Amino acid sequence: QWIMGIETSCDETSVAIVKNGKEIASNIVSSQIESHKRFGGVVPEIASRHHVEQITIVLEEALRQANIGFDDLDAIAVTEGPGLVGALLVGVNAAKALAFAHNIPLVGVHHISGHIYANRLVTELKFPLLSLVVSGGHTELVYMKEHGHFEVIGETRDDAAGEAYDKVARTLNLPYPGGPHIDRLAQEGNPAINLPRAWLEEGSYDFSFSGLKSAVINTVHNAEQRGEKISPEDLAASFQESVIDVLVTKTLRAVEEYKVKQVLLAGGVAANKGLRKTLQEAFDKLPNVEIVIPPLKLCTDNAAMIAAAGSILFEKGVRSTMALNANPGLDITIHN
Ligand code: ATP
Ligand code: MG
Ligand code: FE
Repeated sequence: QWIMGIETSCDETSVAIVKNGKEIASNIVSSQIESHKRFGGVVPEIASRHHVEQITIVLEEALRQANIGFDDLDAIAVTEGPGLVGALLVGVNAAKALAFAHNIPLVGVHHISGHIYANRLVTELKFPLLSLVVSGGHTELVYMKEHGHFEVIGETRDDAAGEAYDKVARTLNLPYPGGPHIDRLAQEGNPAINLPRAWLEEGSYDFSFSGLKSAVINTVHNAEQRGEKISPEDLAASFQESVIDVLVTKTLRAVEEYKVKQVLLAGGVAANKGLRKTLQEAFDKLPNVEIVIPPLKLCTDNAAMIAAAGSILFEKGVRSTMALNANPGLDITIHN
């Protein structure tokens, strides 16, 4: 089975070819980060234009590297949401045009289900499982009792983890996207600054990062007013420790309550060195639960993960029609 994945939900244009839902034959990612950097974040209109410029080039390269043609494809899987509507539309329309022209089945995929299924490119999934999804727009704990079944047991009530990283980075005058820069600084600092942790109500699996973000901003401003210099390394380390502490503690509690066999780390923030290390160490002490941490290239947006999620849908008989449309607010629990 050969599936082509197409991903254009944000600022990466990506096309991939995946064999049998788990082997990557090609995974081409064209990033627009350089174009958005000077604005300090993704500008939707610029993102759409870049996708239009890049999609054909990326597509041809994906087929070339996989050494296959359209005749070999069993399905085309495309991110239909959530994401930026103008960006999503480029991928959705490319997928529809190709599916129609070459008479290939079309499968719409939820972007976050893609992030989760990136793990199937690493290892076989074992149910029931729990996925810790930490990305630029999402922070959630997703319980899966079987393929294609998603139950969100906790989610952020305000900022996503990646969003908090990027905003804190901005306060420290670091370039966009700030996550990797904070991560790097955190390795060199000491978590000596006292910052809050939002545990929320007892038993809640929800998250909140806006209070932490404000605390970081206040710490910087108060120091400036006193004419003091705060160590960016220590601040980054303290911020990172607070984020990781809450993420890992809640994940471990959910693992116990839901008695899962496997935990999958997913989303762009899964590239975080501190998070990866802390999770690995915590799960080394739990021999009955397997932790899966994808390689960095599969954590951030890419089309191989969309093809992997699409492969499962395709096997289940799910097909999209030519009425498929971009859906910026697509719900993962309804969309299987
Ligand atoms: P979503 O997947 O929710 O739609 P998105 O696709 O924009 O959002 P991703 O591409 O999955 O998000 O992840 C991008 C985010 O990951 C950015 O916020 C970025 O700062 C963050 N990130 C990347 N690397 C790291 C890192 N090493 N440490 C912390 N954050 C990181
Ligand atoms: Mg991105
Ligand atoms: Fe993403």
